[in-house]
Amino acid sequence: MDQKKKIIIIGGGVSGMSVGIYAQINGFDSQIIEKHSIAGGICTAWYRKKYRFDYSIQWLVGTKEGAFHDTMCETNILNDQVQIINAEIHNRNLAKDGSDLIIYTDLERWKKYLLTISPEDGKAINKLARDIRRASHLRPFDIAPALRTPLKYLKAFFHCFPSLFIAIRHRGKNFTQYIESLKIKSPLLKEKLLNIYGEGNYACYAFLLIMGWYFRKNAGYPIGGSLGVAERMKERYESLGGEFLFKKEVEEIIIENGTAKGVKLTDGSVIDADYVVSAADGYTTLYKLLKGKFRSPKLDRVYANWKLFTSMVQVSFGIDKALQTDYNIQVVQAHGEKIGGTELKHSYRILNYNFDPTMAPEGKSCIIIRFDSPYDLWEKMNEEDYSKEKKKIEEDAIKILEKHYPGSSEHIEVCDVATPLTTIRYTGAWKGSYEGFIPTSKNVIDQLNQKIPNLDHFYLAGQWLFPGGGIPPSVHSGKWALQLICRDEGKQFMAKIK
Ligand SMILES: Cc1cc2nc3c(=O)[nH]c(=O)nc-3n(C[C@H](O)[C@H](O)[C@H](O)COP(=O)(O)OP(=O)(O)OC[C@H]3O[C@@H](n4cnc5c(N)ncnc54)[C@H](O)[C@@H]3O)c2cc1C
Repeated sequence: MDQKKKIIIIGGGVSGMSVGIYAQINGFDSQIIEKHSIAGGICTAWYRKKYRFDYSIQWLVGTKEGAFHDTMCETNILNDQVQIINAEIHNRNLAKDGSDLIIYTDLERWKKYLLTISPEDGKAINKLARDIRRASHLRPFDIAPALRTPLKYLKAFFHCFPSLFIAIRHRGKNFTQYIESLKIKSPLLKEKLLNIYGEGNYACYAFLLIMGWYFRKNAGYPIGGSLGVAERMKERYESLGGEFLFKKEVEEIIIENGTAKGVKLTDGSVIDADYVVSAADGYTTLYKLLKGKFRSPKLDRVYANWKLFTSMVQVSFGIDKALQTDYNIQVVQAHGEKIGGTELKHSYRILNYNFDPTMAPEGKSCIIIRFDSPYDLWEKMNEEDYSKEKKKIEEDAIKILEKHYPGSSEHIEVCDVATPLTTIRYTGAWKGSYEGFIPTSKNVIDQLNQKIPNLDHFYLAGQWLFPGGGIPPSVHSGKWALQLICRDEGKQFMAKIK
């Protein structure tokens, strides 16, 4: 019998585990090398005194249907036991003067609500709703770009036409320009809508897609959150015979004559392989593990010019009291205000996880506050200043908590502050950018190639390939990596064990 070929996967986040699952399904031997002690990467959570503090999922595209859905079922992110909830409200945007804008996930309800704010803007509101409905026709491809035939593209064009029409019609427009283009008469409604995003160049198409996925009830939340997702993927990978090497860090990808041959770890050991897939942070892969030797003009341009999601601070509270709210996710306008040493550019978010009983014991609450905090503020901080800054953030966050949930600070059992340096320590994410590149008006429909020019038997997977990041595309890219390897090996790709 032929010996199985071996695939080494760098990184045990959701994309690395996806590569591993499809590698095992397709008859390869595989090992995932992960520098942290647990699987999941950014899709994670941590426990403090029986509270679970989640770091990622608020919504997952593909919880109901489509190619993302298929991939998430094949990788055990979704199965019959996973309960999905579809929130009625995406978030509540609270202005400094106390007025608010609620974003309902049901489009008809949102339309009616917007009309109560400005009855005279029926035309603009209908146009917004029509654009969302059209954008919702986008269907992700099930196969890697390099394997798509002209017929595949033609079929996709046919199915996705309304969405592509919107993408083309509003190409180059950021969210602000799009709202301006609606010609809204009411200054109040216009201001409320403009306040949704702080990021000036956030692509309007990305916003329309988000709302479109909600409209189709195809972006739910899986009870158990991010850690649940990571644990189910790990279970699937190991049950298929895959092996994790935890607390091992790759230092270099070994290349001979333009072909990847294995990896060298920081402990000096070398692991040989027939293929290497890197699902680690993109910058680390290209400029450290490959020493910047394998590049392309596009890769260099992207890494020099595409803007990153600003790194963030997460303050998590475990509270010995059941805190009720009508709004589980609130975006609170706070430009110019300070939390610790960070002056906020736009807002902070406050999340009440009472919709997921796995996050806190009965009768208790898990409240999370997140805010953008540029990496430059943290980059050179010494240990003493770092401890002081965390303390100051905790104090300021308690005041915020008290503002939203009066009296709750007396019931705090635990407070945990995670900074951009925490993100980097546990995941290696470049500059703490937890979702990679921001989708802007310039790059929203662009993506990077999984194959690097002049380097064989090596592929990239993960969130750094697509502006916007996210779990479904990251996991999908793991599947695509295996489709490409199967093509190289002359094998028929299988998505499931037959
Ligand atoms: C606050 C927040 C909210 C989010 N909300 C959502 C949401 O609602 N929906 C959604 O879909 N997505 C969301 N995301 C994004 C989503 O979590 C990420 O896009 C996704 O988890 C990225 O997965 P990945 O496998 O590509 O990368 P990562 O998770 O970064 O995995 C890379 C792995 O590689 C390992 N590694 C790096 N370098 C090395 C090395 N040299 N050797 C060995 N191992 C290495 C790291 O430790 C890490 O485990 C959110 C993220 C955050 C932080």
